[in-house]
Amino acid sequence: MYYACEEHSESTLDDAVEHSGEPPFMDRMAEDNLSTRCSYCEQKAVYKVQEKRSHQV
Ligand SMILES: [Zn+2]
Repeated sequence: MYYACEEHSESTLDDAVEHSGEPPFMDRMAEDNLSTRCSYCEQKAVYKVQEKRSHQV
């Protein structure tokens, strides 16, 4: 699972695609979740990104 701020949402998506080979699931964080930081910087995370591969189907 990756976390991304508004600014890093695209790089996070790109990294996840590169890593797993397919587009990941991407969700907006809950508005009241203020403690999760972006995986790339210290800003508040706005999106959470999950690679499909790590998800059992
Ligand atoms: Zn960031």
